[in-house]
Amino acid sequence: MSRVAVLGAGLAGLSAASQLVADGHDVVVLERDGGPGGRAGTLASDGFTFDTGPTVLTMPDLLDRAFARLGADREALLPLRRLDPAYRAAYADGSQLLVRANISDQVEEIRRGGLAADAAALPGFVEWLEKLYAVEMPNFIERNFDSPLDLLASPSAAARLVGLGGFTSLEKAVRRWFRDERLVRLFTFQAMYAGLAPADAMAIYAVITYMDCIRGVYFPEGGMRAVPVALAGALASAGADLRYGCPATRLLTDGTGKVAGLVAGGERIAVDAVVVTLDLPTAYRQLLPDLRPPRGLARATWSPSALVWHVGVRGTPRAGVAHHNIHFADAWESSFDQLVTRKELMSDPSRLVTIPSLDDPGAAPEGHSALYVLEPVPHLGADIDWTAEQGPARERLHGFLAAHGYPDDIVTQRLVTPADWAAQGMAMGTPFSLAHTFFQTGPFRPPNVERRLPGVFFAGSGTTPGVGVPMVLVSGELAAQRVRTYLGGRS
Ligand SMILES: Cc1cc2nc3c(=O)[nH]c(=O)nc-3n(C[C@H](O)[C@H](O)[C@H](O)COP(=O)(O)OP(=O)(O)OC[C@H]3O[C@@H](n4cnc5c(N)ncnc54)[C@H](O)[C@@H]3O)c2cc1C
Repeated sequence: MSRVAVLGAGLAGLSAASQLVADGHDVVVLERDGGPGGRAGTLASDGFTFDTGPTVLTMPDLLDRAFARLGADREALLPLRRLDPAYRAAYADGSQLLVRANISDQVEEIRRGGLAADAAALPGFVEWLEKLYAVEMPNFIERNFDSPLDLLASPSAAARLVGLGGFTSLEKAVRRWFRDERLVRLFTFQAMYAGLAPADAMAIYAVITYMDCIRGVYFPEGGMRAVPVALAGALASAGADLRYGCPATRLLTDGTGKVAGLVAGGERIAVDAVVVTLDLPTAYRQLLPDLRPPRGLARATWSPSALVWHVGVRGTPRAGVAHHNIHFADAWESSFDQLVTRKELMSDPSRLVTIPSLDDPGAAPEGHSALYVLEPVPHLGADIDWTAEQGPARERLHGFLAAHGYPDDIVTQRLVTPADWAAQGMAMGTPFSLAHTFFQTGPFRPPNVERRLPGVFFAGSGTTPGVGVPMVLVSGELAAQRVRTYLGGRS
């Protein structure tokens, strides 16, 4: 039996560990923090429990896969409910549109908004998204690349993507289906999840829209924090050794230059392979100081960051407010120009307000609400002093909540800024890693294998396939595939 260490018990690490345990390895998961989750973290304050990272859970079948590999029953360990509406989109003109869980309801919702032609276009749009997804997922997302030339291995898939218009602009592609500007925003804002302005993103990223608006948004019983807790529990039951409060500080090599062990929590642990899920630049700085980081990292394009304001308030939202509420500002292109190109705070920002306490009684005391307000802001490449900016930002967000009719009588609050993300080890103070520009996608993204130190593999948002819960779950599977090839018959 080979011994494999996984560094980090975030969702990438837990996914990798699930595959490795199922492959028959002796797996030790070493986590710096006091529990699992990483970015999918928790903050408890004054009787409120806030989920501090992802709130929009999509593609639960990827979680099912991890549980199934462990012989565990996801439905029993982690009950999920599909949110309907997935989102309430509120626009600057006072109108709103819901993203409904089923297509016929969505057609009706668009028609109700007085958009008969756009309602009629929806089924065709969904069919287009399904085709994109069917080509991209097996050929470009769920696979390891050894070089860009590997793209030529599936010329028919690449040709199909070209035929579907995958390399045109996302915004242009979506405008082919819809005339109403509000729908264009609703079906393209997901480019921001990939760190890109919709006008700059390629249409291939419409798969995020598909995962989100069509495959649906889910919420776990017990909040988002239940996801890593349940997966870590299933891993422990399957025999993995999970150690918390145990940061890895060094990798050790044998006489032939292969990885042979590591130091974590002050202990030397012999291993045959390591999957590293720390933010990539931090991983190189802390654990691989003798190796030059991959070329792309030095002049990388980083995704914008986010301010997240966790607020516990007295009262509950008025009827009609949803679990996820996107407030689209009037400004659009100019906002992305400020955020992405000029690296400034947006003067008229769009924001997400999530209210987990609507579906998670543990999030707030009776008669109270837990709110999560997210505003995209530039990463630390911008000239913003977050110590000075905190107070004004809190005031702006408070004013915004009040103006939009949310309960705003604050019991407890915590504002998380790019400086906080940086303090947690996230390069450039962004939790969203490298933007998905063309040259930071697929075979051009930093690879998940370190060939100069055999036995070292990577998972997480800085490597392939990319950012977000679905992608990091896949990244764990891809890293485990690498380990499988490396260790061959040794397990
Ligand atoms: C505010 C916010 C909102 C988001 N919203 C969404 C969303 O709605 N939907 C979505 O799909 N995605 C969302 N994401 C993105 C998603 O959360 C991340 O892509 C994903 O959780 C990253 O998982 P990971 O395992 O790669 O990294 P991490 O979760 O960061 O895991 C890395 C782990 O390594 C540990 N570690 C660090 N150093 C060491 C060391 N030396 N030794 C051992 N362990 C170490 C860390 O403590 C951490 O637990 C959001 C993220 C944030 C922060």
